[in-house]
Amino acid sequence: MSKRVAGPEIERLIQLLAKVPGLGPRSARRAALHLIKKKEQLLGPLADAMAEAVQKVRVCSTCGNVDTVDPCSVCSDQRRDGSVIMVVEDVADLWALERASAMNARYHVLGGTLSPLDGIGPDQLNIKGLITRIAEGGVKEVILAVNATVEGQTTAHYLTDQLSGFDVKVTRLAHGVPVGGELDYLDEGTLAAALKSRTAF
Ligand code: ZN
Repeated sequence: MSKRVAGPEIERLIQLLAKVPGLGPRSARRAALHLIKKKEQLLGPLADAMAEAVQKVRVCSTCGNVDTVDPCSVCSDQRRDGSVIMVVEDVADLWALERASAMNARYHVLGGTLSPLDGIGPDQLNIKGLITRIAEGGVKEVILAVNATVEGQTTAHYLTDQLSGFDVKVTRLAHGVPVGGELDYLDEGTLAAALKSRTAF
């Protein structure tokens, strides 16, 4: 047992910070100490921002994105192309695709991937909502922007089956050589996928 160096309030702060992805116990202690030292400039405003987020954050009833308004800012943005829906596993993927700013489409957040071993079936994911959106019409293309993992691809196959009855083009992200990547450093699976999905130059 290590000796306690701070009161229970600070210990609690450290324990909670240690649960944040990317922060282990050591980084959590450093972060807590930094916050405490910057009480006025950082700790107070952070506590206020968190309290406000707790009050206002909600899940978009259309696409599953998180925002402070429902429908979310993406769904209510009239400048976006409503005929294309990018299906993603998680909100983090939506943010990543937005950073790439390659498409000005709408999204649908599944909230995970099919994983029978973990008890995650179609009903545990936001799939019914996607089918409803497609059934309402106006969507021409569904881009399955899921991870290139076994679960991601299983989910993509399932969704392709579910969407086969609709007049909608179903596409997926290309698998292959990353931008700036060197062939010699790629694994065989990635190289094989890159060859299979080669495109005309
Ligand atoms: Zn939305």
